[in-house]
Amino acid sequence: MSSGQDQAILAVHVRGIDGMCVGCRVWWSRLAPYPCWQVDWATSRQARTITTRFLEGVR
Ligand SMILES: [Zn+2]
Repeated sequence: MSSGQDQAILAVHVRGIDGMCVGCRVWWSRLAPYPCWQVDWATSRQARTITTRFLEGVR
């Protein structure tokens, strides 16, 4: 299980000066308001990973 893909997405999909996602414009030539669905996806995956680590640490 790797989080490299999540970090790559979060590194590219950043908020532009106009409030739109830079990564979506560069990668998909698409205008999407930030945070786009890919940022949502990556952050939710990271949150789940952190939660799992936290629960394992408690146990
Ligand atoms: Zn995006």
